[in-house]
This record gives sequence, structure tokens and C-alpha cells, in this order.
Amino acid sequence: MSEKKKYDCIIVGAGPSGLAAALYTARDRLDTLILEKFMPGGQINNTDRIENYPGFENIGGPDLIMKMMAQAQSFGAQIKNGAEVTSLKKLDDGDIQVNCDDDEYIAKVVILAPGSDYRKLGIPGEDEFRNAGAGVSYCGTCDAPFFKGKEVIAVGGGNTAVEDALHLCKFANKVTLIHRRDEFRATRVLVEEALAKANEPDSNLVIKYSTIPLAIEGRDRVQSIKLKNVKTEDVEDYPCDGVFIFIGMVPNTDFLKGFVDLTEHGFIKCDGAYLRTKIPGVFAAGDCRVAAAMQLATATGDGVIAAMMLKQYLRDPNWWTEDASDILPPGSLK
Ligand SMILES: Cc1cc2nc3c(=O)[nH]c(=O)nc-3n(C[C@H](O)[C@H](O)[C@H](O)COP(=O)(O)OP(=O)(O)OC[C@H]3O[C@@H](n4cnc5c(N)ncnc54)[C@H](O)[C@@H]3O)c2cc1C
Repeated sequence: MSEKKKYDCIIVGAGPSGLAAALYTARDRLDTLILEKFMPGGQINNTDRIENYPGFENIGGPDLIMKMMAQAQSFGAQIKNGAEVTSLKKLDDGDIQVNCDDDEYIAKVVILAPGSDYRKLGIPGEDEFRNAGAGVSYCGTCDAPFFKGKEVIAVGGGNTAVEDALHLCKFANKVTLIHRRDEFRATRVLVEEALAKANEPDSNLVIKYSTIPLAIEGRDRVQSIKLKNVKTEDVEDYPCDGVFIFIGMVPNTDFLKGFVDLTEHGFIKCDGAYLRTKIPGVFAAGDCRVAAAMQLATATGDGVIAAMMLKQYLRDPNWWTEDASDILPPGSLK
């Protein structure tokens, strides 16, 4: 094997988290390479209206990503597009080998930022209307304000579904929460809140149990959803302006199995303060990591934390196993 160039830092994924990390590492004069499976941008490329990224009242995803990319590149970060990372290996000398199908790279530290994808229903109309402007959304926090005075459907039975349905009630005229089973999976306190809300006189929250969506329909934008009651088999066309799908996230971490520890749902395990994984020199940042808030601002924040903390590791590799003793342990804030 010919002698490979060694990067100070390799970042896996050019989403908001990876680009924010690259801005910091490159500006710190660290030789930085981002490996990106497709094109830079990640999930946020799928929206043309962001209203909750500090400093921008309203900006489109691709526009914001172009700015982030240009800023990181202006300090020397390199981005390789079409470079899907397929595996990683910790070498005996402490460096990390990052493998793509047709090449391999060596780095002193790696930041894993491959993100997640929303779990999809896989029904007709879902892809056609995907985008809050057309009516299908996966994020209540991001898109609820765009549905002021409208009628929306929320799909799901877990914490996010119930919490975000309640959040939607602050904006929409009517929210119909549909769940395929006859009771919710969400925590009791949330379920009680939702049931109390639905039982209020003239409530704008309607709950339909044992109901699944079959198709999202409309012309140019969502106008109705076809619903089926799984007990009676009855099918109905239910008018609505939007459909919020809250059935979970799927992290892009299959390629990391056996390298770092993953949760049962595939999120990367790391410490909450410094984002260190179990492999010295390998950080996790953004929507791929356990307990991520799944927001643009938190994903960029994670990238920055990893980029700042890796300097500690470069100075002293023993820092990796130091415990974060000044940080309150879970459960201590009672
Ligand atoms: C439609 C939509 C609208 C949204 N709106 C908002 C909003 O208004 N406000 C808000 O705060 N948040 C919003 N979000 C959420 C926000 O986009 C995410 O929280 C954020 O993008 C997470 O950033 P990330 O860098 O962690 O991951 P991602 O954005 O998922 O980026 C990960 C990147 O890694 C690449 N990658 C994956 N696997 C590999 C691999 N093996 N090798 C190389 N590259 C790889 C991917 O191609 C991708 O480019 C929205 C999300 C969607 C889908």
C-alpha cells in the first residue's frame, strides 16, 4: 500500500453537523476532509423554509447549506462528494482508517455525522407532497406554524406523536391524531394530557384509534387522506390540509455496526457532554447520536462541541477516558 496522506480530522457526512464541525476544525488550521455520500446538505436540503435557525428569520435549506459550505471551505476544509463511508478501523498506532468503496483515508480523529432519516409510511402521496409547503411534514417543531388555521392529521402513537399533536393544536383549527392500535405507546403523562385536551368542549383535538393511513391525496398540495379502520375495515376520505408523520427516525449507522456501540434503534452511543464514543478519537455529532434533539441548531451545536473537544484529545489521548466529573449525573436534578 502506498503511503497515505494523514488528515488531522475526517468528518463523515456533510449535513449541518458535519459542516459546522469542519468550519471549526479548518479554522483551527487542522487539515480537514469531509466525506459525503451524496451532496452536501443532508435532511435540511428538503425544506425551503426554516424559521427557527437563530439569526435567520426565514431561509431555505439549500441556501443555508451553500453558506455553511462556503464558510467551511473558505478556511480550507475539503469536501469529497459521492464518497460513502462503508467501514472504519482503529489502527495500532492510534490513527483511524476510514474506508469508502474505492478508497481509504487515514485520520487522527474522526467525527461521525451521518444523520438520520425520518421513518416513512410508504403510502402513495407521501413523497409527492413531502415538504411543509405541499402539506407533508415530519417535524412539528419545524412546521406547525405554517398550518395556522388549517386542519391537519398527525400519525403515530409514541411520545413525539402525542407531544407534537398537542403542539399542533396551538396553531391548527383541527388536529386529528390517528394511531394504528387502540392505545398509545407514549408516556402516561402525555397520554393523559392528550385525552384531557380531546375531551374539552369544542376541542380542536380528535383522536382516532385503530386507524391507518392508506394514501395522501390532493392536487399540487394535500387535500385529503384515505383512512382505514383496522377493526371495522371501513375506509373514509378525510379532508385535511396537512399530514404530520411521527413514526420515528432511522439513523444512518448500519456501516458502524461492530465499530462503535449503537442503541437498539441504531443511534450512536456517546457521552452526553463531550460526544466521545467508545473508540478513542471518534466523536458522534448531530441526529445520528443517542438523545439528539433532531434540530438544525442542535446538530450544528454538536458539530462545534466535537470540533472543540477533539483538541483535548490531540493534546493528550488520555483525556479520552477522563470522566466528566463536573457534570451532573443523570437523575441528580430531582
Ligand atoms: C423536511 C425537513 C425539514 C426540516 N426542517 C427543520 C427546521 O425547520 N428546523 C430545524 O431545526 N430542523 C429541521 N429539520 C431537521 C434538520 O434538518 C436535522 O436536524 C439536521 O439536518 C441534522 O443534521 P445532521 O448533520 O446531524 O444530519 P443530516 O442532515 O442527516 O446529514 C447527514 C449527512 O451525512 C451523509 N451520510 C450519511 N451516511 C453517510 C456515509 N456512510 N458516508 C458518507 N456520508 C454519509 C448524508 O448523505 C447527509 O448529507 C428538518 C428536516 C427535514 C427532513
